[in-house]
Amino acid sequence: MNELYVVSKFGGTSMGDVECMLRSAQIVLRQKSILVVVSATSGTTNELIELSKISEKSSWDNALLIITKIKVKHLKMARELEMNPEKMENLHQLFEELESMSRGIHLLKDCSLKALDSILSIGERLSSHLFTEALSIVFKRANSEYKAQWLDARDVLITDDQFSKARPLTSEIKRRCEEQLSGIKHTNTVYVTQGFIGKTKLGMTTTLGRGGSDYSAAILAEGIEANILEIWTDVAGIATTDPRLVSSARTIAEISFKEASELATFGAKILHPATLLPAIRSDIPVFVGSSFQPELGGTWVKKDVEDAPLVRAMALRKKQILVTLSTPEMLYSHGFLYQIFKVFNDHKVSIDAITTSEISVSLTLDDSTLINHDLILDLEAFADVAVEENLALISLIGNNINHTPGLAKKIFETIPDINVRMICLGASKHNFCFMVAEELGAVVINRLHETFIGNLV
Ligand code: ADP
Ligand code: ASP
Ligand code: MG
Repeated sequence: MNELYVVSKFGGTSMGDVECMLRSAQIVLRQKSILVVVSATSGTTNELIELSKISEKSSWDNALLIITKIKVKHLKMARELEMNPEKMENLHQLFEELESMSRGIHLLKDCSLKALDSILSIGERLSSHLFTEALSIVFKRANSEYKAQWLDARDVLITDDQFSKARPLTSEIKRRCEEQLSGIKHTNTVYVTQGFIGKTKLGMTTTLGRGGSDYSAAILAEGIEANILEIWTDVAGIATTDPRLVSSARTIAEISFKEASELATFGAKILHPATLLPAIRSDIPVFVGSSFQPELGGTWVKKDVEDAPLVRAMALRKKQILVTLSTPEMLYSHGFLYQIFKVFNDHKVSIDAITTSEISVSLTLDDSTLINHDLILDLEAFADVAVEENLALISLIGNNINHTPGLAKKIFETIPDINVRMICLGASKHNFCFMVAEELGAVVINRLHETFIGNLV
């Protein structure tokens, strides 16, 4: 018999309160997941970021207010789960750790990315203890032979030391999974672990970047050679666009790895952009569904899908900037693009879309890049640099996009009154993207959705 080995990931809203946790635990029971990856409880990561800022810059009393808020929220959940004192101790240790770290930041008036990652890890470490308890309750109520076991993700998910955006070290993770989780497929133990966090080889806590729990789950699914990855969230699958933007957005039953990767990279928050890398590498189908309404089904993301529509979905990415570099030296010369990419490479900043003309190059970036003053200075060393802010990147995702006559005409006919600041077409058969003013992003998506998806049955 072909056994199914399922890794299930639950996002912050699925950990929102005890009711959410118990509902999510029911899904684990029903799906027979062998490894469960959880996010911090809803809002906690934001609170921890706030705490680190306040600890560094404001009064200790203000920091204590946030610590208390986080404590009260988690202790309430622990009480509702009737956690015994021994298990409660795990939570108290984490609260102490949180307070000591915040105090350290406050005294030094310095919060490095390394310190921030340790602070942020507390969110997932707390929620995973609570969820282990919720899962034990559900197993017990169902008279299941399965047992829930807490696992420190940092023992297996080893990363490099790029704090706040650490990269997993795949072969080391594989080795650790084999060493520590070899029995996972043959015991009645279901491991509950943290998404988002990892550890360097030297033992420092790292994080994979905001929304990184999806990525953690995919890395671990690959590490233990699971054959299904489930992402449980607050919507019933990947929709034709963000349902918060367009109320008529529809769930997509099946989408290819390539299309879903483009969608995630170009702004669909439902999946962390890197999530599909391990899934593609190891050909693990991914299911996305709602932990609130699992009966609604969801989306399968897989290598091969039956249909390949021209426009499957669309995404909006806000807070974009356009950096234009110009220099007459580019005329008839070579090596200019190399110089540019080298600077971006040195600063480890990724470029999303790019267009070039005779003497200039325009690149789209996330506006968080602007914090990196040195990047701009290094670019200014060999070109005039113009930065335009408050832009939105609109992407249409589908198939055969670069070989279909009339598509661009149809797109731009829907927005004759809107200035398009940059267009990127041709590099991918799955993507057509362009930039508009940020405040018009939602209007553009609504019109495109109406044209390309809304009027389909
Ligand atoms: P989680 O905390 O479970 O990881 P996220 O908030 O990160 O959940 O992602 C789920 C959200 O992604 C949805 O609530 C939805 O607003 C947003 N989203 C963006 N694009 C899409 C899309 N194409 N399909 C479905 N949801 C989307
Ligand atoms: N808790 C982290 C965040 O809010 C990771 C995640 O939820 O995926 O970004
Ligand atoms: Mg998420």
